[in-house]
Amino acid sequence: MTPLQLGATIGILGDGQLGRMLSQAASRLGFKVMIFGPDRQSPAAQVSMASRIAAYSDEAALAKFAEGCDVITFEFENVPAASLDFLTARGAVVAPSSRALRITQDRVLEKSFARDAGVATVDFFPIDDVVALDTAYAASPTPHALLKTRREGYDGKGQAWIRNASGVADAYATVGGKPSILEAKADFVKEISVVAARGWDGEIKTFPIGENHHVHGVLSTTLAPAKVPDALQAKAHDIARRVLEGLDYVGVLAVELFVLPGDELLLNEIAPRVHNSGHWTQDGCLCDQFEQHIRAVAGWPLGDTQARGTVEMTNLLGPDILDWPRLAAEPRARLYVYGKDDPRPGRKMGHINRILD
Ligand code: AMP
Repeated sequence: MTPLQLGATIGILGDGQLGRMLSQAASRLGFKVMIFGPDRQSPAAQVSMASRIAAYSDEAALAKFAEGCDVITFEFENVPAASLDFLTARGAVVAPSSRALRITQDRVLEKSFARDAGVATVDFFPIDDVVALDTAYAASPTPHALLKTRREGYDGKGQAWIRNASGVADAYATVGGKPSILEAKADFVKEISVVAARGWDGEIKTFPIGENHHVHGVLSTTLAPAKVPDALQAKAHDIARRVLEGLDYVGVLAVELFVLPGDELLLNEIAPRVHNSGHWTQDGCLCDQFEQHIRAVAGWPLGDTQARGTVEMTNLLGPDILDWPRLAAEPRARLYVYGKDDPRPGRKMGHINRILD
């Protein structure tokens, strides 16, 4: 693809904090940004040149949006893949592709894709009804197994643990009786993630690995670069490369991995977008994940991903943000606020990057 010229317009489907930070990175490089999403006063629209407020499936609104954009990307994996197909059919340049989105929207397709690409995952079983769940649970190699909806679950939502056969029906009810996946429990010693990018020309750059801590299924902190052996880092980067190439991906994605004893790695999830566990790069790398995504979709050369220091990123959830006067006064730290009004419990309101050395 011919590199986008300065002043070109990048369209972003999705209006949350990831869209906001992508928009800020794009404007720094001289691009204009148009946001497409359902919310008025969204975090992304607040900082962008223009926004179109509409449902993701509104074809008339998508068509108008496409007319004003030189390239279109997304920050939210629950955008319908059919909307990307619609935009592509109208001649829009869209990255990442609808194929990459379709695969990563569905946990069964995603894990099957990973295995075909030579990447190990936990044992899993597709579930369409409670009888299938009974059979799958009996076949699970571990007595603890996790039932997740195939689609639209995130941050631990749409998930239920099963600890014995009598818990099967309850777990199925907890996920709403939806098409699901049963996963064997991974006995991990660590959770890590790799954020990586691929350009239109196939160039790949990977960021150093982040070590993630979750609380109640939601990311709480990322420490990066993680203190892991070189061989493990190389293995994780190889997994990211296989995923990027197998999806013929353009843009930034994140691969969440479980580290088992003996440094074996299992893929948990692929996020087809910039990712919360990559926020540390804003202060840890010369080119952060947001700029990298913009560079990739714009056909620019990918930026430098070497770490400049160690960073601990902490999410500010709900009322945590009310502590901003103290956080803003901390030395060697940088505060990011997403511009959301209502600090309801658990809502991602901002984050802070603390420089550790
Ligand atoms: P997910 O929404 O799939 O990223 O899951 C959220 C969190 O639940 C993960 O970060 C893990 O801490 C935990 N988890 C998910 N899947 C498994 C699994 N198969 N075994 C053990 N823990 C898991």
